[in-house]
Amino acid sequence: MSINKFENNFLIRMTDGTLKQVNPFSGAEVWTVVGRGNRPIAVNNEVKELDSHDPEDYCIFCPTQYFKTPPEKSRLIATNGEYKMLHNLAPSKINDTVAEFRRVSNLFEIISYDYWVENYDYVPHPIIMDKMSQYLSDPQGKEHIINTINFKLKSSGQSDDDIASISDEDKIRMATGFFAGCHELIIGKRHYIKDAEFDNQNASSGEMTTEEHNQYIKFTIHALKDIFITNRYARFVTVFQNWMKPAGASLDHLHKQLVAIDGRGEILEQEIARARNNPNAFNEYAVNFASYHNLIIAENDYAVAFADFGHRFPTLAIYSKSKRNQPWNHSDEEVRGMSDLVHACHAAMGSELPCNEEWYYRPPDVDVAMPWHILIKWRISNPAGFEAVTNIYVNTIDPWMLRDKVVTKLYELRNQGKIEKSINISTECDCVPNCLLYNPNITGTHQLKRSDLERLRGETLNF
Ligand SMILES: [Zn+2]
Repeated sequence: MSINKFENNFLIRMTDGTLKQVNPFSGAEVWTVVGRGNRPIAVNNEVKELDSHDPEDYCIFCPTQYFKTPPEKSRLIATNGEYKMLHNLAPSKINDTVAEFRRVSNLFEIISYDYWVENYDYVPHPIIMDKMSQYLSDPQGKEHIINTINFKLKSSGQSDDDIASISDEDKIRMATGFFAGCHELIIGKRHYIKDAEFDNQNASSGEMTTEEHNQYIKFTIHALKDIFITNRYARFVTVFQNWMKPAGASLDHLHKQLVAIDGRGEILEQEIARARNNPNAFNEYAVNFASYHNLIIAENDYAVAFADFGHRFPTLAIYSKSKRNQPWNHSDEEVRGMSDLVHACHAAMGSELPCNEEWYYRPPDVDVAMPWHILIKWRISNPAGFEAVTNIYVNTIDPWMLRDKVVTKLYELRNQGKIEKSINISTECDCVPNCLLYNPNITGTHQLKRSDLERLRGETLNF
């Protein structure tokens, strides 16, 4: 039981063991019913031996298929451990290097280029239109564009005759969104892990090295900042990763998506409203509360992860401790700290469970301070009739069960050197109240670290 009246409803254990959870920000009501959590988590039981191909060519995101996606906006390459970003590669250069990550437009945009043009008179920056002209001036580039539009039209159900009747000029006009659109993908290099033997060994976020994952996050942040600058009508850019088909992914090749929208979405609006009401809400109702209820899973100097509550799916939350509210304003060390914990959470859940990774941060036009945080939701159940009628969600794993599953795995992974060594796990964490410094009222000068006790008790102090 919490001492704060508002917090009293967040987690209520009934006499029979049912746990009633209320999300502090959205108000969503979620129950964990006794017994259901012990059901085994279903994973793919029909594992087949992999007919392995090197280089990989399993889907259109694979490295042999660079011309099957729209033209690249950027790619990240690695040479002897040094990462370098290349922008708007000419068609003749595309197969000269192997991309660690690629940034391309989504062929099937949720919010299209035309949406911005028709509703806002969006005019792409001249630099972007120059890049498009350059690409089209190369015959290989033009062929790539026409083929990609043909593929898109065919996938949308148009007949070959219909497609042939559209002029190249019109097809090129349709391709403007490949260069100036604001729904993008960040595509990882591998489809399966190196030396995979079975078809369930997909290359997930958790299978990367900590440095590869850090580069993935940094590259995504670069695209995020770029989209905001490119499209001044964007009120928010959602960043998410759907892993595996049950989580909404169309391909089981790792990728993140960034979508510019002219609103903020219900969840973010609720978070902003809560933070306006209590500027310290993300400390009090999220991290402090999790700490007082022993839900903290892992921590480093820059971020903290806990088993979250009040979500329809088992959810891990990772919060940045930075004073800066937006990912692109974080220092390299702060981004690395976030990345290490996000990577550790993915590694702990393994690559077989479907999940959504969702980013939340303060939109540029919001005056209320809020921290960058990432939620990882395990998509292991499907809301059904009960949820639709009652608006109460049944989540099969309560936050403490989730904590135990993840913490056990984190110790194992750290011993094996598969996650960052600097991560403190569970009882090793400092759990300092108000450790999130996003709130300008919190200066951090009060910080009371667990590690200080050794000094306080170990030395004769002169008062
Ligand atoms: Zn692939």
